Amino acid sequence: MNRRTLLAALPWLGVARHLAAAETVKVVASFSILADMTQVVGGEAVTVASLVPVDGDAHQYQPTPSDLTSIHAAVALVENGLGLEGWMARLPQAAGFKGVRIVAGAAVTPRQMEEDGRSITDPHAWQDPTNAILYVRAIAAGLAKALPDQATAIAARAGAYIAEIEATDRWISSQLAGVPREKRVILTSHDAFGYYGARYGVTLRFVQGISTEGEPSAADLAALIGQIKREHVRAVFVENMTDPRLAATVAREAGAVLGGAVYSDALSAAGGPAATYLEMLRHNTALFVAAMTGA
Ligand SMILES: [Zn+2]
Repeated sequence: MNRRTLLAALPWLGVARHLAAAETVKVVASFSILADMTQVVGGEAVTVASLVPVDGDAHQYQPTPSDLTSIHAAVALVENGLGLEGWMARLPQAAGFKGVRIVAGAAVTPRQMEEDGRSITDPHAWQDPTNAILYVRAIAAGLAKALPDQATAIAARAGAYIAEIEATDRWISSQLAGVPREKRVILTSHDAFGYYGARYGVTLRFVQGISTEGEPSAADLAALIGQIKREHVRAVFVENMTDPRLAATVAREAGAVLGGAVYSDALSAAGGPAATYLEMLRHNTALFVAAMTGA
């Protein structure tokens, strides 16, 4: 091969290398927040699909035939646990899934909360970054089991990601440190921020119960509006995946303002304000602090 022929062949060698690098294995996560965490930990070795789409409701989801195909082809399946994905229970068996199941929230110490007068497990553990670190460890362990030849790289990425999560946790604490305790009160359209509130000393009020299925009664709403007035709640927040009209009504009746869309159970689309888990934490905190301080 002369020099000219060799040079002509080089682009093709490049294409071959590119194709080899693009051969990633498939992983499925139940919802977008877990998909983001899993993609960070898995890096270029994996392509992660989310069953519930961005801006979707992880409490209620109707799986599609193509979800079964995705799960069947996946080497690992990541779910939150803590009672979030009731709709997922029969999917792995129905899909003939043979990979590694990862329950990201398995090591979390769960909070309890009220729904329809009974105490249930609060599934929204990811809203406390210290729980997210437990998620990342579980995801890293599961992916390393599914892809043993990648174990070292997976552990390195998980370690770097945990450092970023810790830095974000410190940033949130510093943002809230300037807000007096009595002003750390927020109201959201569904009760998704209990872990966040417990971590950062924020009192939560909510319009709906923990389930996005429940519709509050007129008496519940009247009681809530009275409470908002008494406690001088300044802003009502609406999650990206819920109907904003109810919260808007409550805010108006109580003389509060709508504080903007916060992200609780789903990320935004790419390019939106909360396209990653860490962006979601920063976005929500910025909106909460602005409302609490009247900025
Ligand atoms: Zn939720």
